[in-house]
Amino acid sequence: MDIYLGKPRGFCAGVVRAIEIAEHSIKKFGSPVYIKHQIVHNPHVVTALEKKGAITIENVEKIPKGSTVIFSAHGSPPSDYDKAKKRQLKIIDATCPLVTKVHNEAKKYTKDKRKLILIGHEGHQEVIGTMGHAEVYLIDDRIKWTLPKWPKNQPITIITQTTLSIDDTMKVVRKITDYFSNVIVRNDLCYATTNRQLAVKKLCEKSDMILVIGSPESSNCNRLREVSESHGTPSYLISDADSLQKIKSKISGKIGIISGASTPELIVQQIITSLNADEITEIQVQEENINFTLPKIK
Ligand code: SF4
Repeated sequence: MDIYLGKPRGFCAGVVRAIEIAEHSIKKFGSPVYIKHQIVHNPHVVTALEKKGAITIENVEKIPKGSTVIFSAHGSPPSDYDKAKKRQLKIIDATCPLVTKVHNEAKKYTKDKRKLILIGHEGHQEVIGTMGHAEVYLIDDRIKWTLPKWPKNQPITIITQTTLSIDDTMKVVRKITDYFSNVIVRNDLCYATTNRQLAVKKLCEKSDMILVIGSPESSNCNRLREVSESHGTPSYLISDADSLQKIKSKISGKIGIISGASTPELIVQQIITSLNADEITEIQVQEENINFTLPKIK
């Protein structure tokens, strides 16, 4: 079996930063440190932090008064910060700076009296967070959607969830710009999402099948599987070497492997070992050397 290994793959700068924030906070404040929502959408990362002293929780109001809370990389609505303040929690923000950028855009364009369209997936933590920062018209292209009933010359700004499919998002953007005459389109799809989708497209040219390594809860991992399928290459999203066993009988030919922005490289290497490949070729489509600085944790 030949394996083509996509690059860039795995952790993005926002995920590295969120994990480091959580680790530093546990060291500094001791256990437990509460994390609002999974710090990133990967169970291996979540479990590793919980073993070190983190408690993942959805409801800020259930966190004991005076504790420390970290807000996850996906971003949270201001109402969650307000609840945390009311409970006198020490607040540490692990929101990815590229998600914060979208929040700031939402606030700026609202102030400029432009209406906002958010392209994103209803119920995803990042979308819940962004919708808390400004009034938006949400378009979720996984379901039947319609354009807002606004005048054609209504000033509009389009913002997006950071982890969507590039191609699907552009289709929605085109429909909006074809109808409305005064539209600003922000490019909010993050570099990590873009690069991994470019990598999976390249892998599709060489592979009979693509394995996307990551959590079924991860938006960017799901998009990688869909991108592969839309290029005509069958694809499976598997979370680890155990879930590989369930599909092992279906694996044949040349296998492309990619991992999402929240997947630890260790899991990828474990899967490669289980596949016992004859040859592994790394296919790099883009250099990636972005780092985000940590906030002061005090
Ligand atoms: S996937 Fe993109 S937006 Fe999400 S944490 Fe990583 S860099 Fe930030």
